[in-house]
Amino acid sequence: MDDPTESTGPAARYERALAQGTLVLQRCRGCARHIFHPRVLCPHCGSTDLETQGSRGLGVVYSTTIVRRRPEQGGDIQVALVDLDEGVRVMSRVEGLAADDVKIGLRVQAQICKPPHRAFASAAEAADDAKASKASKVAEAAEAAEIRPLLVFTPFEEMSA
Ligand SMILES: [Zn+2]
Repeated sequence: MDDPTESTGPAARYERALAQGTLVLQRCRGCARHIFHPRVLCPHCGSTDLETQGSRGLGVVYSTTIVRRRPEQGGDIQVALVDLDEGVRVMSRVEGLAADDVKIGLRVQAQICKPPHRAFASAAEAADDAKASKASKVAEAAEAAEIRPLLVFTPFEEMSA
C-alpha cells in the first residue's frame, strides 16, 4: 500500500481505495464539508486541509436518464446522478432495476464493481482477436470498459438484524 512508486494524488488514492473495495470521500477540515471528485483544494473554502473518510455509500437518486441505443450496440444505458448522504453528487448508474423503474428520490446504496483493469485486459485480448479479423470487438470492449463505472448503485435494502 505504501509503494513509493504509486501516485499519491487524491484521485489516485480514491481509485485505489475503490479497487480495494472501499468507498472513500474527502472532507474539508476547514469547513467540514465533503468533496467529490477528489482534489487538493476544497471547492467551498479553498482550504488544503482535507482528510479522507470512509463512506457507507448511501444516497438518493437526484436525476436519472436513459441513453437509448440499438440492441446490437449494447442496448439502453441508464445514467443517474446520486446525492450521497455526505452531501456530494456522483454520476453513475443504478443496477438491479429496469432502467424505466429508476425514479428520482429512490434510496440507493453504492456497489463497488471489479476493478476496470479486467475490462482493459479484455480490450487487449480483443485487440489480439482483431488481428484475426474481429476489429469491431476492440471498439466493443473499449466501450464496455468506459461505460461500466467502478462505482454503481443498487436499490437500498434495509438490513433486518
Ligand atoms: Zn472547505
